[in-house]
Amino acid sequence: MDGFVDEVNITVEAGNGGDGAVSFHREKYVAAGGPDGGDGGKGGDIVFLVDDNLNTLIDFRYKRKFKAENGENGQGSRKYGKSAEDLVIRVPRGTVVSDRDSGRILADMSGSEPVIIAKGGRGGRGNAHFATPTRQIPRFAKPGFKGQKLELHLELKLLADVGLVGFPNVGKSTLISVVSAARPKIANYHFTTLIPNLGVVKISEGNSFVMADIPGLIEGASDGIGLGHEFLRHVERCRLILHIVDVSGSEGRDPISDFEIINRELENFSEELANAPQLVVANKCDMATEEQIKAFGDYISSKGLPFMQISAATTEGTKELMDKTYETLSGLPPLKTFETDPEPVWETADASDSGFEITVEDGIYFVEADWLEGILRTADMDDYESLQHFQLVLKSSGIIDELIKRGIKEGDTVSVCGFEFDYIE
Ligand code: GDP
Ligand code: MG
Repeated sequence: MDGFVDEVNITVEAGNGGDGAVSFHREKYVAAGGPDGGDGGKGGDIVFLVDDNLNTLIDFRYKRKFKAENGENGQGSRKYGKSAEDLVIRVPRGTVVSDRDSGRILADMSGSEPVIIAKGGRGGRGNAHFATPTRQIPRFAKPGFKGQKLELHLELKLLADVGLVGFPNVGKSTLISVVSAARPKIANYHFTTLIPNLGVVKISEGNSFVMADIPGLIEGASDGIGLGHEFLRHVERCRLILHIVDVSGSEGRDPISDFEIINRELENFSEELANAPQLVVANKCDMATEEQIKAFGDYISSKGLPFMQISAATTEGTKELMDKTYETLSGLPPLKTFETDPEPVWETADASDSGFEITVEDGIYFVEADWLEGILRTADMDDYESLQHFQLVLKSSGIIDELIKRGIKEGDTVSVCGFEFDYIE
């Protein structure tokens, strides 16, 4: 299995917004300047982008954590902090990105548009915003918003119009190699193909389709190695299945029972795959007798399925098969993409993300909350108005109510993220 990785878990974290600045205009001979603290810059987004040079998720085996840069803090003279660059994560086409917590599909990376998966936090506002006629010297600014952090599951589901399905050694790799530029390994033993191969089949100028040589089916399952079903996810999007059967029975198996076993595998995987349109292809006709071909063909026709006979090795009938495949595709719905269910617009901030935890030890009420740290960082607690602003936040977030519920009394000590003050009713 080495070399082909089509499923990984990673962690992404968008950048935090920079903090707003607390600053006052200073000029010679001007006694009291107005507030001029600038806003913090935005944190970098986590952006996904398709890269057609990639065909597995193997890079993510070695790097599983991605963090975009934070925005810079604001500065005096109303100078904005610089926003951070987005972090672009490149994935092979067909990668389906989902949120591990909710199981929601966030993006199906089938197109070429970049997709924002985790949003960087907005910058906090500088104190220049907070001057009012009654508060001329705001000694506080707003902290930057936190960047979004997500645990992701990435799954590669190849994009191919046609999937080749069948027992090992029936000639799938040989077929794709004679009808396209794909050059998979061909060998007369099982386990030859462990990486799905994509090939473009050109019918005429401007008319083509993509074919995938899907490995694994039965190969591992029958030997208990456990490949089996896993690879079927790559057939999930296919519009048409070419079901390849060795009609000569060169490996001592019966073509009809081969055909039924594979169909059962498809059924076990999903109802959708079981019902996907199939074109049944009898391969190795160069080695088969007329009777063998006829018996199998009659059986397939009795099932109401289309049937073609070829020899991939001599290329007899392969051109006709490709024409028929193309014609069949033109009557079928387009490639399946997965319905995405993106995160609701996400913006946790000082007040909206107001989870907290209160513990009481030796009569001191300890309040822990990530988001409060930012507020403390940007406020000057010796300043009356800043303190008022801070108290307002404690009230609106429900912390005060909770302290009262816990039995706090006038004069008790409260410690908020290390900042201590006395509780006054
Ligand atoms: P896969 O496992 O289904 O991909 O099968 P391969 O394409 O690797 O082929 C397995 C073996 O069957 C190889 O030795 C091929 O040369 C041989 N083979 C494939 N197609 C034909 C065919 O049409 N006629 C004959 N005689 N041999 C074939
Ligand atoms: Mg093969």
